[in-house]
Amino acid sequence: MPDTHRIVPGAEVDLSKISPEGKDYHSHKKAARKEFKTLRREIIELQNRLYAECRQRLLIVFQAMDAGGKDGTIRSVFRGVNPQGCRVASFKAPTRDELHHDFLWRIHAQTPASGMMQVFNRSHYEDVLVVRVDKLAPEPVWRARYEQINQFEKLLADSGTRILKFYLHISKDEQKARFQERLDDPAKHWKFSLGDLEKRKQWGEYRAAYEEAISRCSTAYAPWYVIPANQNWYRDLAVTRVIVDRLKQMNPQYPPEEPGLDLVEVE
Ligand code: ATP
Ligand code: MG
Repeated sequence: MPDTHRIVPGAEVDLSKISPEGKDYHSHKKAARKEFKTLRREIIELQNRLYAECRQRLLIVFQAMDAGGKDGTIRSVFRGVNPQGCRVASFKAPTRDELHHDFLWRIHAQTPASGMMQVFNRSHYEDVLVVRVDKLAPEPVWRARYEQINQFEKLLADSGTRILKFYLHISKDEQKARFQERLDDPAKHWKFSLGDLEKRKQWGEYRAAYEEAISRCSTAYAPWYVIPANQNWYRDLAVTRVIVDRLKQMNPQYPPEEPGLDLVEVE
């Protein structure tokens, strides 16, 4: 089941053929919420072990169209996790300093250390998405990046970092509804920028850019998952299933105790 939404290496992704409706994959919202909460407890326990073991690393990437639910997913999936062992990095438009380096420089600096779980809210994929759609770099420059990204992720994987990448897949209608909700609720105004409407006009170009990025960069060592995300309850469950499955494979162990602990008396 964790593999339901995994993109197999080499597959050509056509997002118009993948339903963004969680309802198409699960009919019981209540049961889904329950399973999600149970699995979330498993993340907390497994992350505790990962941190104690201090040997393996997990990198979790989230990408989505605007209002796709990156923030909400991060908030609900990682609730309760020990913040000491889990970090979130959000990647905005590069600063002037960052632009004086290669595109992976700022990314590499945020990859997880041993024992850590690292979440990326946007990522190096922006460099083949917004950069491509808004023509921020010439085509040969961003085209070369698919291979550069694969090589970079291979380097991370070979050095003991497990990588999961999630594209939160919403429909254009759902985006409209979420934008409207942001406009209607003063507490959500800060989440809305007029630039979001410009990007919405480029929906088709973004979709094509996502399709190519996901098709070319879903590898055995750093798979992409296209998560139906129109319903939050299904999105959270689907993401959590994949993370728990991966953490179980990693099977982190508490480090061995010091010899003679059974004889110790605390005075
Ligand atoms: P939300 O989805 O909740 O609106 P956000 O991630 O969009 O949050 P913003 O501050 O609104 O946060 O947007 C960050 C912006 O930075 C995005 O428009 C994104 O495309 C842009 N960005 C990120 N990485 C790059 C990059 N490498 N080059 C150019 N722009 C980038
Ligand atoms: Mg935004």
